Amino acid sequence: MPRQPSPFELLILDCDGVVVDSEPITTRVLAEMLNELGVPVAAEDVARKFVGHTFAHTLDLVAELLKEPLPRDFAPNYRDRTFATLETELRPVPGIAAALDLITIPYCIASNGPHAKMRKTLGITSLLSRFEGRLFSSGDVPRGKPFPDLFLFAAHYFAVRPAACLVVEDSASGVAAALAAGMSVFGYSGGVDDDQLLAAGAHKVFGHMSELPALVANVQ
Ligand SMILES: [Mg+2]
Repeated sequence: MPRQPSPFELLILDCDGVVVDSEPITTRVLAEMLNELGVPVAAEDVARKFVGHTFAHTLDLVAELLKEPLPRDFAPNYRDRTFATLETELRPVPGIAAALDLITIPYCIASNGPHAKMRKTLGITSLLSRFEGRLFSSGDVPRGKPFPDLFLFAAHYFAVRPAACLVVEDSASGVAAALAAGMSVFGYSGGVDDDQLLAAGAHKVFGHMSELPALVANVQ
């Protein structure tokens, strides 16, 4: 495909589920840990309930499910088990590297996850060098997604107007954040759950990263 000009000036990518295929792994570990605490919940339910939230909010939701405060070592254990599993199982989202090679506008990542997690997952998948100096975390701003702060922070860093930014998200919470920031937002569904992203207000939903360069160039 030839390189194309774009009406957008900045592409902001969510990390988990859009650049690295981490969601199935992290939701599986969380489901396993909840099961061990006696909460009978399946990985799919965990995904529906927790994807796209900050870790702190996820912990609150877990405590609600448990109907009592979390064990003190729950958060560090979850981090350790998640990192160990990611180390051996994590893959890039299919087609993301090839898609980025064809995109001519600046791009960055804005994630509700901490910098340490982004650096870990992007390192494992050999994508980190593409995003050095272009990583933004909810820890950098007062409020994570679904609030607009993180996307506005990234746009400001690149001195790009929100209206000229295109966000790619795989969660309703991220779509809401992009809309609140006044940005265009496309949902990446990985071929599943288009409806949830459209219902959240995504301007378009796509199922494979090979479609992204043309979407960024606004030729469809
Ligand atoms: Mg995500």
